[in-house]
Amino acid sequence: MEYSSINKINCQLGTERSVIREIFEYGNMRASQVGRENVFDFSLGNPAVRTPKCIDDSIVRLVSDSNFNVHGYTSAQGAFEVRRSIAKSISDRFSVNAAADDIYVTCGAAASLTITLNALCNSGDRVIAFAPYFPEYKVFSNGAGAEFESVEADTEKFQINFDGFEKALTPNTKAVIVNSPNNPSGAVLTEKTIIRMCEMLREYSKRFKHPIYIISDEPYRELVYDGIDVAYIPKYYDDTIVCYSYSKSLSLAGERIGYIFVSPKVNNAKEVYAAICGAGRKLGFVCAPALMQYAISENPGCVCDISQYKLNRDLLYGALTEYGYSCVHPDGAFYLFVKSPVADAVRFCELAKKYDLLLVPSDSFGCKGYMRVSYCVDTDMIRRALPLFKKLIDNL
Ligand code: PLP
Repeated sequence: MEYSSINKINCQLGTERSVIREIFEYGNMRASQVGRENVFDFSLGNPAVRTPKCIDDSIVRLVSDSNFNVHGYTSAQGAFEVRRSIAKSISDRFSVNAAADDIYVTCGAAASLTITLNALCNSGDRVIAFAPYFPEYKVFSNGAGAEFESVEADTEKFQINFDGFEKALTPNTKAVIVNSPNNPSGAVLTEKTIIRMCEMLREYSKRFKHPIYIISDEPYRELVYDGIDVAYIPKYYDDTIVCYSYSKSLSLAGERIGYIFVSPKVNNAKEVYAAICGAGRKLGFVCAPALMQYAISENPGCVCDISQYKLNRDLLYGALTEYGYSCVHPDGAFYLFVKSPVADAVRFCELAKKYDLLLVPSDSFGCKGYMRVSYCVDTDMIRRALPLFKKLIDNL
């Protein structure tokens, strides 16, 4: 084999930044030229509302307590009392039986996903996700040695294209990643969709004589509007592993904190949990930040004030659809998935740049012809950007 001083795949990943990061960096460059207030950056999903005061208060109190080593290591899977608090909160809210030893505390959803995929996958396994999907799923799946397969989007309602799903299932399918509320569509899977997906997976697990796991990626679970219910998949399907993050629900994205819940109903749950511990070790996570572990465990069930997101969603959705854009009504997360008024969304997003409107074309989400508008931003910026969205479509 040819000698290489570096891992070329990793070098390529590090050189080609994600489209979202590219646009974000472009926005920073434009801000230095025309002033931050004249750049309308709808690219990133960086939470815009304040972290709840109870979390800030816990952090301040914890760092002021000289008897408590809050900056030290914890157990690799998370401090026991933290895992117990998370397990109790899950059990109380979703009526499932979660115990401390079913929980593995992580550095956010990205870590939850990479650890879970590494715990489950062997070379040649396949991982499925439904388009439109979070682009890192492919990177994380390939990094765990698996092949990544995307199921074409159901562009009518952004639920699941079941014909495509059935065709994608093979004896090598190890896991299906589900993300509801969804980034980038904002859609929430209905209970009917979840039931049908689970029935299909039960049937194919039986046929292939091995479990097909659902990996439920849930960073947006609490970000839903108008009282919409987000089904808790472990209640519908035994072989479910939940990858949760506090990045969005508590606006703690930079602090890196989340958890994995291995439902006790998972086939060989103890072995799966051991493989999760092993994958965390192999990937060098050591433990999640102790200060954040204790801060979240003191405030179970706490969620940031999402009223600003709802206001932003209503403002943008109402105005854009009035101007002639078409978009599925987003029930959750903080994204609008808008159909590009011209066939090539990359070209449309380039046109938008002329107004310093920064939008993300949907190609990297596995579903061409759309653009993602991230509305976790200041409401005033949306108000100032609306006339530009109008000009953009009127001047096509
Ligand atoms: N999964 C989805 C669907 C996301 O949108 C994100 C971040 O935006 C992540 C995972 C990663 O989140 P975290 O910051 O918790 O690692």
